[in-house]
Amino acid sequence: MNLGLEGRRALVMGGSRGLGKAIAQALVAEGARVAICARNAERLGATALELGVEGIVCDLSAPGAAAALIRETEKRIGPLDVLVVNTGGPPPGLFVDLSDAAWRAAFEGLWMSGVGAIRSALPGMRARRWGRVILITSIAAREPVANLMLSNSLRAGLHGLVNALSREVSADQVTVNALMPGYTLTERLEELQLDVTKLAAQIPAGRLARPQELAAVAAFLASDPAGYVTGQAIACDGGLLQSI
Ligand code: NAD
Repeated sequence: MNLGLEGRRALVMGGSRGLGKAIAQALVAEGARVAICARNAERLGATALELGVEGIVCDLSAPGAAAALIRETEKRIGPLDVLVVNTGGPPPGLFVDLSDAAWRAAFEGLWMSGVGAIRSALPGMRARRWGRVILITSIAAREPVANLMLSNSLRAGLHGLVNALSREVSADQVTVNALMPGYTLTERLEELQLDVTKLAAQIPAGRLARPQELAAVAAFLASDPAGYVTGQAIACDGGLLQSI
């Protein structure tokens, strides 16, 4: 299938490693002009060089950073057609462990970075009557994952944003969707120190995902043929959610 992404301009937030990197790679393979961002200049630079994309240093947890990121991206690669909202996951913890400061920090990093980026990128997409906004959330938005209170809560809310926003902008041929990774083999997963063998036994597919498997779904959602898919939250989870 021709995804029609040749020459399209895409920003993948949080793209120096893991799922963001795999998505950026998939978009480049389809001929898109891609920018990625991350905090760590050294790793960002290495990934940008490896993939042949623009690397923009940005701390998405800083207020106003996402809007500045969109401005810088459009300066470097031109008006955005595709925005992939993605960043690091919030720290683990039970409800009893979490202070107001922890909730506010997670909200700033996970929610407001997305809101700021979408608010800045959307007017151009609407005016040009073509746009794709994809939020990388989590299966935790549908079924809570133990000890991930912040992620479980905030990502479920993001699905509400996807539903409501998709209705506001679909007449302008801009789609807004959430993509829910299941357990996927990235550094983030290693850091959470989960028991991979035990996890795999709970997943109908019998294994964890490769980042490229999620990236393929993201590339489709970013594509021209996906223009009638909007307001959805799509899982790439080896059948886990429907089996719970
Ligand atoms: P990861 O930690 O491996 O990668 C996160 C990326 O975001 C990196 O490029 C990092 O540099 C960047 N980043 C982190 N904080 C940032 C900040 N403040 N400013 C700018 N960039 C920042 O994570 P991943 O496994 O690729 O997952 C991506 C997202 O998907 C995360 O939010 C994660 O919680 C979620 N998720 C992952 C899985 C999984 O199994 N890997 C499952 C469900 C949901």
